[in-house]
Amino acid sequence: MAVVAVVGAGFSGLSAAAYAAQAGHEVHVFEKNTSAGGRARQFRSEEGYVFDMGPSWYWMPDIIEAFFNDFGDTVSDHYMLKKLDPAFDMVFPDKRMLSVPGDYTALEEMFDRIEKGSSRQLAKFMKGAEYKYETGMKKLAYAPSLSLAEFMKADLLKGLSKLDVFSSFRKHVGKYFNHSDIRSLMEFPVLFLGAMPKDIPALYSLMNYAGLKLGTWYPDGGFVKLVDAMVSVASRNGANIHLHAPVQEISIRDEKVSSLLVNGQSYPVDAVIASADYQHVETSLLAKQYRNYDEPYWNSRVLAPSCLIVFLGLRKDIGSLNHHTLFFDEDMDTHAEEIYSSPRWPSKPLFYVCNPSRSDKSLAPEGHSSLFLLMPLSPGLHDSPYMREKYFRIMLARLEKQCGEDISSFIAYKRDYCVNDFVQDYNAYKGNAYGLANTLSQTAILKPRVQNRRVKNLFYAGQLTVPGPGCPPAIVSGKIAAQQTIQYLIKNQ
Ligand SMILES: Cc1cc2nc3c(=O)[nH]c(=O)nc-3n(C[C@H](O)[C@H](O)[C@H](O)COP(=O)(O)OP(=O)(O)OC[C@H]3O[C@@H](n4cnc5c(N)ncnc54)[C@H](O)[C@@H]3O)c2cc1C
Repeated sequence: MAVVAVVGAGFSGLSAAAYAAQAGHEVHVFEKNTSAGGRARQFRSEEGYVFDMGPSWYWMPDIIEAFFNDFGDTVSDHYMLKKLDPAFDMVFPDKRMLSVPGDYTALEEMFDRIEKGSSRQLAKFMKGAEYKYETGMKKLAYAPSLSLAEFMKADLLKGLSKLDVFSSFRKHVGKYFNHSDIRSLMEFPVLFLGAMPKDIPALYSLMNYAGLKLGTWYPDGGFVKLVDAMVSVASRNGANIHLHAPVQEISIRDEKVSSLLVNGQSYPVDAVIASADYQHVETSLLAKQYRNYDEPYWNSRVLAPSCLIVFLGLRKDIGSLNHHTLFFDEDMDTHAEEIYSSPRWPSKPLFYVCNPSRSDKSLAPEGHSSLFLLMPLSPGLHDSPYMREKYFRIMLARLEKQCGEDISSFIAYKRDYCVNDFVQDYNAYKGNAYGLANTLSQTAILKPRVQNRRVKNLFYAGQLTVPGPGCPPAIVSGKIAAQQTIQYLIKNQ
């Protein structure tokens, strides 16, 4: 039995810990914060409002189910999933609103109402997107991406052209649909992938399949239920989770990690899975000669966005506000440019409002609501109380106008969270929220490597390595890193 240390208790770290412990190793997870979950933590205000701090879109339930199945469990052993219907609302200019149905037949009817005959186009689009999902998420996503040979399998090569790796997402959508509302609806998921739709490979239409065909779900009680469930699986398999335990140094002897320094105490280890942000692990915890990548490398990477989040506890229930509302009432390209091409605080931001208390009454006192407003931002922007308040006011005014009711006077609790908080809480490079962008030049073997080149028992997991950002990929990332670690230990123990 070897001692495996995991740095960080986000989804990737918890997943890695569970698999390494299942393989019979003594696993210790060291997490700097006082609760597990990483970017998916939850907090409760003194007034009784409960907020998930990160993810709110539960997509790809099958990938999450597969994690639990690996341990003989099902999701329903741990929490209840609700399918949202409507899945989400989109606000367009002039207060026009599109309620996107959770039911697929109703979705087809909506497409035809907006653009005659477009449900037939949707069927064709989804056929291709399903292939990409089945291949991309169920096969390629699990590859450690250490060499191109992993992708040289006959069935993958045969279907390579169907993956649309080299065509742009925007052009792909444009081939199927003309109406701007439909195009916006299809393009919105890529905003989270960290680049403009014209720069993201059409491969990621797998996200449309995930969102529109597999559905938008909600874990009753919030995303923290997934965190709790993963903690329970990891612990049941023997993993020890140490909270308030920041790793300060990874010590190397004879080209191997020999120990971790945690809260001033040294812990001897046989292997390490570093699931905290990759750049932080390399530049703050590891001596220069052992790093896979230097500072210029990180500077040249395209990061997915950071964001401004404002959590609000309201002394009222906003009846007209569904669980997810996307404010696309300004030009998406202008905002995307201000995130990716010429980074600045946006001139006319798009934003997103999450009102989970609409689906889950446990999140707020009776008759009240807990919601948050989220505006994507370029990572590394200068963050100040003034800018936070300025943009909160902009978002609030548009929300009030859309709902046609006073919200400001009912605010009982308010907390903002932005670039500096991501740095402070998670050691996030430039305060990124969603990791590294999924551009073509940062996909698969072109992403930061899962194994250290010089230190053979050091592996990386998390949203800055393969397969990429998002809860399901982070969980898969933990599995990949654990499998690499287990193989290393079999060969070297
Ligand atoms: C605001 C927001 C909204 C999101 N929305 C969605 C969504 O709707 N759907 C979706 O699927 N995904 C969403 N995501 C993305 C998803 O939450 C992340 O991809 C995923 O949670 C990342 O998991 P991780 O394990 O890679 O990183 P993290 O969750 O950041 O975990 C890394 C952990 O390492 C710890 N750590 C850092 N340094 C140290 C150290 N020196 N010692 C010990 N511990 C350390 C950190 O505290 C953290 O707990 C969202 C993310 C954010 C921030």
